[in-house]
Amino acid sequence: MALHLKASRARINRHWHVLCSEIGERYAGTRGEQDAADYIEGQMRRLGLAGTHQQPFEFPNWSYSQCALRVGKRRPTRRIEARPNAYSSATPDRGVSGPLINLQGGHKWDLAQPMKGKIGVLVGSLLLGDPDVRNQLVRSGIKALLAVDARIPFEWITSNGNCPAWMNGYHVPTVGIAYMDAIRLLKQMPARAHLKVKARSFPAMSQNVIGEIPGSRHPDQVIVVSAHHDAVWGNVGADDNASGVVFLLEMARLFARRRPKRTIRFISYGVEERLSVGAYLYAQSLTPAERRRIVFGINADSIATTIGSDMVGVTGTPQLARFVERIWNARRHAVHIERMVTPYSDHFPLNAIGVPTVWMTRPSIGTGSYWQLHSVHDNLENVSAAPLSRTIETNAILLDQVANATRLPFPRRLSPEVAREARRLHKSEYGHPWSPDSFDYDR
Ligand SMILES: [Zn+2]
Repeated sequence: MALHLKASRARINRHWHVLCSEIGERYAGTRGEQDAADYIEGQMRRLGLAGTHQQPFEFPNWSYSQCALRVGKRRPTRRIEARPNAYSSATPDRGVSGPLINLQGGHKWDLAQPMKGKIGVLVGSLLLGDPDVRNQLVRSGIKALLAVDARIPFEWITSNGNCPAWMNGYHVPTVGIAYMDAIRLLKQMPARAHLKVKARSFPAMSQNVIGEIPGSRHPDQVIVVSAHHDAVWGNVGADDNASGVVFLLEMARLFARRRPKRTIRFISYGVEERLSVGAYLYAQSLTPAERRRIVFGINADSIATTIGSDMVGVTGTPQLARFVERIWNARRHAVHIERMVTPYSDHFPLNAIGVPTVWMTRPSIGTGSYWQLHSVHDNLENVSAAPLSRTIETNAILLDQVANATRLPFPRRLSPEVAREARRLHKSEYGHPWSPDSFDYDR
């Protein structure tokens, strides 16, 4: 029988509208995130998915109420827009001030400069996941840090995610400024800055939403289709990751009335933007026997930017990569397939328990990243239904083949070198503290 797995533009636009216009911002631990979860649960129930429920969990949340940055040659009088990185410490009430120091790209040699009593400007990747970098900063006596996301060389600020594990015991107030502001600021050097941040960390609740289609022949073999419904601070996350939630809901609709041989479990995770907290806690909540039942994962995160090119990140074996390539080629679906291990989306906690996965994403062209990522520009203006429906339809073929094959078309395992890398990243990027009690935020 020929496949008739067509995505519905009307439904895509409807889901997008509800998530981004009616609900809007979905910052972790807020009403918006909960409303999105309730909407997804309602859709799963309407489709008749089995065992539909929410899995609530507690996590250390963070928010800020004030962030004021001023700079100047002698006296800091010129205001620059800034936003604290997630889990940034507060400053004392009167703020902190000091001479600026150019920490360049934030490499080891950059951070070897004397920083005591100064405010640093760091353009590039602030690698707080690296304990050496974190310790260097904590011990330096630096007063505050202005961190500039060099992937996004624009006039606007971004909301930078961090996870509790990286920020544990890190007490340096750290804020982001726009790339172009950093250029103007560094051109003025030497200069001084004054920074005031009011922020706090507190226990909060989030939730994963789970529903499934039980397999008719191999109900004990489970394929996980996932996305995340939270977004970063200050935008509606139309691409990151309402696009993935729409993908998940459309995939659920396309398969809801079929009887696949294997079980398909749909999971929308909470708190992805702090390094997949929901996905990690989900994987941890499974018994060893339940973990062994998961044979494959399809994760969608940021798949609908208008000017972009589709990519599939394959974490598993060469056989899985070839299988994916055959399906995309047969559809003439232009795609970059890359074998990779990356901890920066919700497929990774499955890799960490030995499950092969594919990650659908769509980087924008020309910026080496996602130009609207984590900024106010991640809105409905800048995403398109065309690439999204294409990715849904190609994945429907993939899912159909995996769910209904007599034998799984690729091994249910990771190649040894992939497994090694997954274990290494799991140790360095994930781990404690996941509970508010063990999180040393500001003591
Ligand atoms: Zn995301």
